[in-house]
This record gives sequence, structure tokens and C-alpha cells, in this order.
Amino acid sequence: MWNFDYCSTGAISALLNENGLSMTKRFGQNFLVSSSALEKIAGLSGAKAGTKVWEIGPGIGALTSCLIKTGADVTAFEIDHGFCRILSEKAFHDTPNFTLIEGDVLKTWENEFSAGKAPDVICANLPYNVGSVLIASLIEKRCIPELMVFTLQSEVVRRICAKTGDNQYSGFSVLTSMDYDSTEVMKLKPGCFWPAPNVDSSVVVMKKKTQSIVEEDLADQFISLVRILFSQRRKTIKNNLRTLYASATVEQILAKCKLSGLERAETLSPEEIRELALTLRSHLKHQSISHPV
Ligand code: SAM
Repeated sequence: MWNFDYCSTGAISALLNENGLSMTKRFGQNFLVSSSALEKIAGLSGAKAGTKVWEIGPGIGALTSCLIKTGADVTAFEIDHGFCRILSEKAFHDTPNFTLIEGDVLKTWENEFSAGKAPDVICANLPYNVGSVLIASLIEKRCIPELMVFTLQSEVVRRICAKTGDNQYSGFSVLTSMDYDSTEVMKLKPGCFWPAPNVDSSVVVMKKKTQSIVEEDLADQFISLVRILFSQRRKTIKNNLRTLYASATVEQILAKCKLSGLERAETLSPEEIRELALTLRSHLKHQSISHPV
């Protein structure tokens, strides 16, 4: 394997210069240059020989090389063409357990997933500009591996880990808690990265629940309900629901769930939202049976 010092900013600058490359803010390019953080993150992934690991945004391969060393089969998604050249021509050109998917991960991951190449683990120092969108899209489209380990802005990690009633609790917290128990395991100072970002970062471990809060056949209904309930945070749940459903439907399902409707979404637990989704589904099913078109 390529013998490159990923923690030397001098070596990284020289490599980029030699290859006519530079770091782009637009793609959230902040490389991890702390060897202890890199080792710890790879260790948290639990990757070992044969584990199918997805890494999002490998850059020039710092975390990738730690994952590769475990013997895991690593599929890495990278948007930057110059970095892709370094990965495939220098870093891992002779590495059989490395696969590179070039392009925007938001557009490429689903192809891999639907081709039956679902990961056991996802591990990444996520580009901050796509972090929460990517996590939401994985969960919404039911790509839910046993474990996900991400480095993200601390603020996003707090939202992932927030519980009902916390300041940071949001629709995103409900979505992630549907299938995962999430823990912030480590804070990383800006100095762990090159160039240093102007926000603090944290590592979050998202461990799949033994049983999801929501039955698989209710997942789509639950996810759209979360979107509706949190669409306007200042509105009551009744008013948010009325933007999509008839007032009579809203009144009936709220009554069945013993909710006044004056609650705000951030006061509802994921379990209460599941109850609402279940009631809504059976109400709508009943309506379509009794009023055929
Ligand atoms: N893994 C490296 C490390 O830890 O040093 C680099 C992490 S850096 C924070 C984020 C990486 O994601 C960059 O290499 C960037 O080019 C890549 N990236 C940004 N947006 C992306 C996207 N939409 N799809 C795939 N990769 C992306």
C-alpha cells in the first residue's frame, strides 16, 4: 500500500501542488490530520476482514487507509475528480478490497444499494455541506446498516442525539431515532483538520436499534408525517396537519390519539408520532373503503 504521511500538512500540500490540485470549500474539504482521531474513528466502525464498509468523501484516503488495513471491503464515494485520480492511481491502485465510485454521493449511492451492495457499516468524515441531507436520504430510502460512524459539525450531532424536549430536538432527530440509538463519542477541535474549519466537530456513533420504533410497512407514512408536523415549527400540529388533510380527518385522528392538536411537534416523542401515523393510516384506509371513487 502507498506509504504516505496523511497527518503531515506539508506532505499533503506538496502532493496537491504536484498534481495541480487545491482544497475546495464548496465540497467541505477539511482533511483529518490527527492520527489518533483517524485510528479511533476506524476502530469505532468495528470493521474487520470481510465487512462491507461505505466511506463517503475519502479525500486522498486518510481514513480509507485505516479502514483498508482492517481487511474490510471498502467502497468509497468521492466527488472530486483530482482526489479520485490520487486514490485510484496512487493510494489504492493495487488494493483489491477498495472500490471507488466517482461522483456526487447523493446521486450515486442508490445505484450501489439497489444493485444489492448494501453496506454493513458506513464510516465517514462527512463533507459538512451534504452531511444531514445524506443521512436523511439514507434513512428515508431505508439504507439502514447496523452501524454508522460520522464526523460532523457538533451542532448537527447534537440534533441527531436530541431527545424530546431538548432544544435541539427536530424532525431530523425523530428521523434518526426511528432506527438508531445515537451517541456523541468524541469532540474534535478545528486543529484536528486541515484546513481548520471554523466550527467544532464531533464523532457520532449511530447503532441500529434491535427493533425500529416504526414497523417497516409504516415507515413511509411516518416519514411524511414527520415532514408535515415539523414543516412550520411555530405552528401547532393541528395547523400543520390541516395543510394536507381535511379538518374533520385531523380532528378525528387527534382525538383518537388523545392529543388536543395545540401541541408543537417538538413536544411529541417518536413513539407518539408513530401512533399518529398508525391512526392516520387506518383512518385513510377506512375512508377509501367506505367512499370508493
Ligand atoms: N475522508 C477525508 C479525511 O477524513 O481527511 C476527507 C474528508 S473531507 C471533510 C470531505 C470529502 O468529501 C472531500 O474529499 C470532498 O471532496 C468529498 N465530497 C464533498 N461533497 C461530496 C459529494 N456530494 N459526494 C461525494 N464526495 C463529496
